[in-house]
Amino acid sequence: MRIKTKLTLGVGLLFLLIILLSLVGAKYINELKADSENILVANYNSLEYSRNMLSALEDATDKSLQKFESNLQKQESNITEIGEPEVTAEIRASFGSFKSNRSDSALASIIRKDIYRLMDMNMQAIQRKSEVANATAEKAVFWIAIAGTLCFLIAFVLLVNLPSSIANPIQELTKSIRQIASENYAERVHFESHSEFGQLAKSFNTMAAKLEEYNSSNLAKLMLEKKRIETLINNMHDPVLGLDADLSVIFANEEAVRITGLGQEELVGKSAQELAVRNDLIRTLIRDLVVEESTNRQKEPPIKIFAGNKESYFEKETIPISITPTGEHTAKLIGHVIFLRNVTSYKELDYAKTNFIANVSHEFKTPISSIKLSLQLLENEQVGKLNSEQRNLVDSIKDDVGRLLKITGELLNMTQVESGNIQLSIFPSDPKEILFYAINATKTQAEQKHIVFDIDCPDATPRVQADSEKTAWVLTNLLSNALRYSYENSTVYLTVRQTDGQVQISVRDTGQGIAPQYKDKIFDRYFRVPGTMKEGTGLGLAISKEFIEAQGGKITVESEFGAGSTFTLTLNKAT
Ligand code: ADP
Repeated sequence: MRIKTKLTLGVGLLFLLIILLSLVGAKYINELKADSENILVANYNSLEYSRNMLSALEDATDKSLQKFESNLQKQESNITEIGEPEVTAEIRASFGSFKSNRSDSALASIIRKDIYRLMDMNMQAIQRKSEVANATAEKAVFWIAIAGTLCFLIAFVLLVNLPSSIANPIQELTKSIRQIASENYAERVHFESHSEFGQLAKSFNTMAAKLEEYNSSNLAKLMLEKKRIETLINNMHDPVLGLDADLSVIFANEEAVRITGLGQEELVGKSAQELAVRNDLIRTLIRDLVVEESTNRQKEPPIKIFAGNKESYFEKETIPISITPTGEHTAKLIGHVIFLRNVTSYKELDYAKTNFIANVSHEFKTPISSIKLSLQLLENEQVGKLNSEQRNLVDSIKDDVGRLLKITGELLNMTQVESGNIQLSIFPSDPKEILFYAINATKTQAEQKHIVFDIDCPDATPRVQADSEKTAWVLTNLLSNALRYSYENSTVYLTVRQTDGQVQISVRDTGQGIAPQYKDKIFDRYFRVPGTMKEGTGLGLAISKEFIEAQGGKITVESEFGAGSTFTLTLNKAT
């Protein structure tokens, strides 16, 4: 039965019964009231008059006879029972005779007897009527009891049935909704199918079934996607390692397993920090995740790994993975993926190139030097006088040879840098000496452009811990650049300053300067600012940086585009 019908029936019936009960109660109370009034008016008053007549008869005075008369009159107008009119008429007749003969005791006794009969008659009537009232009361009790019992029964049935028939399904439904919310989509509800709850259960079950189907189809799709990605990662030739936010390994492809020398089960699910204790490679891989690095981190050199009986080189790339959870606005870091790009073949090619350049420049150096020597001989007047045309030719060959020597020298230095074989002989050296060596080496170049050097160098400068030859090469290179990129008739400022434990040598020109976007790049190998017209290889500053850093020093640049540049060498003081 529907809940609405049940409620309407139950409450409606109860309502009807309450009305019925009230009507029955009112009816019987009215009847009882009528009965008692009947007794009071009809019989009790007759008894009262009779009693008054009896007492008036005793005295037989005028006054008492008057009282008798008035009570008799009242009785005459209150005749209610059968036989009462006759007895009253008899009393009236006897009283008429008694009034004229007050001493007639026989008459008085007849009147008394009649009055007693009248009283008896009324007493019997009272008795009878009270029995009728009793019967009415019993009937009232009977019907009120029946209506009350019915009311009670219906109320009891409603009390037992209704709350549970409403509350139980709601409870069950709440429980099931909670189950669905916690992703248990197999949950169903079972209510009797005719009530509104039955329809609700049907709708709920349909919804749960659809959710279950959607979830399982999504799960299958997700599993397929997961498998696809796993296969993809596994088939990659480069090692890939996935870490969660707590640095536990979530996945490692076959290549990663091979190069770490650990099994899948030894890697996956384990803390990378714990693995790092006994595995050098893992330690190297997670170093930048564990240690907080400075923001302008240098490019890391390739990692050398010996696996599968050969040496391989890998470039590491750590990619942080962040997601924005549904309903939230801020991204949350959920882990990192570490890619190792196998650069062995490039490394081998690079090695071959460095070797080739080293060999070629080495082989070039001897013949170029001998050409330079021959040119010097040619210039010697003892060998023979050159006419002006020949002199011009010799001068131009000398310039070219000088350039060639510079280039081969730079290339040779570069090969040293690239192969990591910078040979340093670091001793306490006088920075002033180094500076003047560089000034001498670039004097001619300065004279050609009418550039003067403004030197600001205290007489007593502390010695620096440096390879004087390499530092002189660097300074010559900086001076040569300053001269090349300065305008004619300008000044190049050279300053030597000492700071705490260090000596700084600055070379400042007032030339074209360097555009801000290239400032960080000019120290890269083979980099030249686009549009630079002057000859050059783009190696000078790269080599300078390597040379100075290898000595524990620093080289920096400050430049204002269009106003000039300042290159500063910082070297450690000798102790
Ligand atoms: P290069 O042989 O080209 O001079 P460098 O490594 O010495 O190679 O310099 C790299 C680039 O930096 C140059 O090509 C030039 O564009 C820029 N550069 C270097 N020094 C200066 C300077 N003093 N003023 C302006 N630009 C400079």
